[in-house]
Amino acid sequence: MVIVNTCGFIDAAKEESIAAILAAVDFAHERGARVAAVGCLVERYRDELAAELPEVDLWCGLDATPLLAALREAGSGEEGAEGHGAAVPPPRRLRPVASYLKISDGCDRRCAYCAIPLIKGDYETVAAAEILRGARAALAAGAKELVLVGQDTSRWAQPGWGGLERLLAELKALEPAPFWLRLLYLQPDGIDEALLEALSRHSVPYVDVPLQHASGAVLRRMKRRGDGALHLDLLARVRAALPGVAVRSTFIAGFPGETDEDFDELLAFVREAGLAVAGVFPYDAQEGTPAATLPGQVPAALAFARAAQLGEAVDDVAAGFWRALVGRSLDVLIERGAKAGGVAVGRCALQAPDIDGRTLVRGAVVRRGQVVGAVASGSVGYDVEADAGRRNP
Ligand code: SF4
Repeated sequence: MVIVNTCGFIDAAKEESIAAILAAVDFAHERGARVAAVGCLVERYRDELAAELPEVDLWCGLDATPLLAALREAGSGEEGAEGHGAAVPPPRRLRPVASYLKISDGCDRRCAYCAIPLIKGDYETVAAAEILRGARAALAAGAKELVLVGQDTSRWAQPGWGGLERLLAELKALEPAPFWLRLLYLQPDGIDEALLEALSRHSVPYVDVPLQHASGAVLRRMKRRGDGALHLDLLARVRAALPGVAVRSTFIAGFPGETDEDFDELLAFVREAGLAVAGVFPYDAQEGTPAATLPGQVPAALAFARAAQLGEAVDDVAAGFWRALVGRSLDVLIERGAKAGGVAVGRCALQAPDIDGRTLVRGAVVRRGQVVGAVASGSVGYDVEADAGRRNP
């Protein structure tokens, strides 16, 4: 069975999901396999998808029960099917370097543009015991980094047990140490002094804070708080608590009602904010969200042009952040090892897995999962080049 995990967040993700389903159908049916499409897109558009794509054998939204039942059935069907199971070589398993732990799901915030609450529903925490169990299992399997995720991680708390500060402390005390701990998707108004203190003690110096815009008027229409001045104040507090921190953010260009002045405010903010990396998205109206029917919809071509301009500004500013690392000592977690004379590929603590740049290390004979000391010797965009072994004092 080929399983396609889909996303239904924005149109580009929906199109990519459907393309992946179609590719899976071709691939699987040539080989006599079945196709299951699962996840958020299916949760939201199951009936329409099932009508349009009858070639898919199983549709399964966020409740995995039908998928698990089908897998059990397929597994039991293989028992005794002579030679069939043995003909498929087991997949090559790489030791996990970084492991994601979901600490919450859903969101109560209702930003005007966002379909996630429509898909995922209200905010729910994962219990501390379950998170710790997942962390122990990941570390036992060889993970050297735990990445905590959820739509709104900063508000995690378990009544009678404690909040994020305790969770971070308990996770960081797990064995085998050392490993990196990273937290993604901290909403700006959830970052207080207690959390910054906990991050400074337990996590890598990395803060992922979706700011979305800098114009107070646009943020109000988005049903979000803050403005450029408050964002800068937050970034100053983050940098005071976590010296050298890499700040990642996301922005939307072309939100309904965004004027040239609003966009200029956003551009000016990005040039001042010193971000290490940011995702920039042209506004993409999602059916069922309040923003889709707001007056003042920005023409798509203008939203794309603004997003491109903002993306260039982010690239420029971020290049300065990574260039400034040259000469500094870095620990690099290796994701692809190297033999003598080769170049190993990994990440320093300022780079999150899957979404950020890489650090290329010369002069090290290393294996995947090892951490090597290196000194940054250059940067190319969001990637860092480093030489192993030499350590500055
Ligand atoms: S906080 Fe994030 S997930 Fe929640 S509604 Fe806003 S954009 Fe969507």
